[in-house]
Amino acid sequence: MKDKIVGINKIQIKEFQVIVLWADGHESIYEAKYLRINCACAECVEEWSNRPLLDPASVPADLHAEDYLIVGKYAVQFLWSDTHFTGIYPFAMLRDLCTCEEHSG
Ligand SMILES: [Zn+2]
Ligand SMILES: [Zn+2]
Repeated sequence: MKDKIVGINKIQIKEFQVIVLWADGHESIYEAKYLRINCACAECVEEWSNRPLLDPASVPADLHAEDYLIVGKYAVQFLWSDTHFTGIYPFAMLRDLCTCEEHSG
């Protein structure tokens, strides 16, 4: 069973980071490049096989988020500085990607 999906109160874009403030008070700090590499859109992951199509080495070292959009009530879409914008990050996926001690341990 998955935990109930936690909402997002606020997203902040810093130079090379994306900071998500969750409705339960948790704060997740992501490297923009890390989120970009974990993009699960059809351009980055082959849909029927889940095979990664994105070569992480092709993502620029200075990648950052230009902008973001909340999609419905459950996902975030980012515009990355490499002009990629088709990736949709469901809240549950973002939460799974959290690298804090509590979530990566
Ligand atoms: Zn993608
Ligand atoms: Zn966390």
